[in-house]
Amino acid sequence: MTDLQIDTASLDELVARLSGTVVRPGDADYDEARALYNGMIDKRPALIVRVADVDDVVAAVNYGREQGLDIAVRGGGHHGAGLGSVDDGLLIDLAALNGVEVDAANRTAEIGGGALLGDVDAATNAHGLATPAGIISTTGAGGLMLGGGIGNLTRTAGLSIDNILGAELVLADGSVVNANENENPDLYWAIRGGGGNFGVVTKIIAKLHPIDTVVAGPMFWSLESAPELLRWYREFILNAPEELNGFFAFLSVPPAPPFPEELHLQKVAAVIWCWTGPAEGADEALAEARSQPGLLLDGVQPMPLPALQSAFDPIFPPGEQWYWRADFVEEIPDEAIEKHVEFAEKLPTWKSTMHLYPIDGAAHRAGPTDTPWGYRNANWGQVIVGVDSDPANAKALTEWTIAYHEALHPFSAGGAYVNMMMDEGQERVKASYGQNYERLARIKAQYDPGNVFHVNQNIRPAG
Ligand SMILES: Cc1cc2nc3c(=O)[nH]c(=O)nc-3n(C[C@H](O)[C@H](O)[C@H](O)COP(=O)(O)OP(=O)(O)OC[C@H]3O[C@@H](n4cnc5c(N)ncnc54)[C@H](O)[C@@H]3O)c2cc1C
Repeated sequence: MTDLQIDTASLDELVARLSGTVVRPGDADYDEARALYNGMIDKRPALIVRVADVDDVVAAVNYGREQGLDIAVRGGGHHGAGLGSVDDGLLIDLAALNGVEVDAANRTAEIGGGALLGDVDAATNAHGLATPAGIISTTGAGGLMLGGGIGNLTRTAGLSIDNILGAELVLADGSVVNANENENPDLYWAIRGGGGNFGVVTKIIAKLHPIDTVVAGPMFWSLESAPELLRWYREFILNAPEELNGFFAFLSVPPAPPFPEELHLQKVAAVIWCWTGPAEGADEALAEARSQPGLLLDGVQPMPLPALQSAFDPIFPPGEQWYWRADFVEEIPDEAIEKHVEFAEKLPTWKSTMHLYPIDGAAHRAGPTDTPWGYRNANWGQVIVGVDSDPANAKALTEWTIAYHEALHPFSAGGAYVNMMMDEGQERVKASYGQNYERLARIKAQYDPGNVFHVNQNIRPAG
């Protein structure tokens, strides 16, 4: 589909109906409107509809379907593979649907489908409450929460999907429906992990927890001590109280304050901790960590949760080069640790990193078929990301990420977290949902038989 193939009369009709605006190739704001977080991905939609309300979403979905355009939906635009946009098709940009309304008495929040995590944390923290989501505040709540949602509160409060109480969606036929325990329960099951496959989610109702100030921050250890540290961590975290969250990382110390100059750019093993229990219990919970050999820096301190949730933002601004690979992991055997350290020594750029996010604790309370998240037996979501500001380094960071992933994949549980994968094909999507894929495909056939919503980690309609 090229620009010229869009029928002008029908487009005029669409524009007249919208409260929001339309951006097309050639418009002054086209490049800004189509930009994605990952600078490695360059997509050129034929039409971008910046919706202002739910009626606009309905009009855009109907228009795209009737015109036979590929439809993409954009929340925060953070997906690594650029699944929040599409070449030559229709992009529905939800950015203006970013309201977050908190019902403090009932501990719930209504989150607009285009809200960013920073919007959610700010609104909920104002009431001393929080819902579990991701670690960078510029990520879209829509994409992150519907695909799973791993972060600093996972062991305490579960995945984001474990906290979705309901949603409002625009379906492929343009109808607006609710999905919750009582209304369309099959759809409610499917959206808690099935991403944007079932419709455009205009509102998510999320459960909130009384988490306000946390005791949190990084600890860094020398890379020489990493094998011993990781052997300790793999046992420790799985036996720690659920109030303690802590993801393991290989990273380079950022070359800026507050990090001491002598550590700048040093490759280290790290754990980013987040203690959600009473502040006076933090020292005891972290005493063992502090006694691990090779500790270089202890940055753990009390802070409002949103401070932790935005601490990485300055390191990772939009528009840089990103290449992702992920796996679910049940165990971290000694041979895997050897490989980890080998690739940590070769981090290709200072922003490149590997994270092992614990997904046990409260996230293990849901069973393997309670939501589409098929790997409740996995203990970590492992992600390897090559990142740099310079496009000239794209090849080096991609090659490092792929080689690292291939070396570690044999030790993994099989599938991966759909939100931390690139566009890796149908078999990989199936593997990620495991035993839940067939049920997802049947629900997809019921709600989106024509696969109108296919610009995503796609679940093909059954039959
Ligand atoms: C810097 C960075 C940090 C990250 N940190 C974490 C983390 O801590 N934890 C974690 O779990 N993940 C994390 N991720 C991965 C993140 O979950 C995915 O990138 C996710 O897709 C982001 O959602 P988005 O709305 O920004 O993405 P987009 O690119 O806008 O969309 C991604 C997909 O979701 C669909 N989608 C988005 N919103 C809606 C909606 N309202 N209705 C229907 N479909 C929708 C889109 O159609 C698309 O298929 C991170 C990503 C980045 C780049």
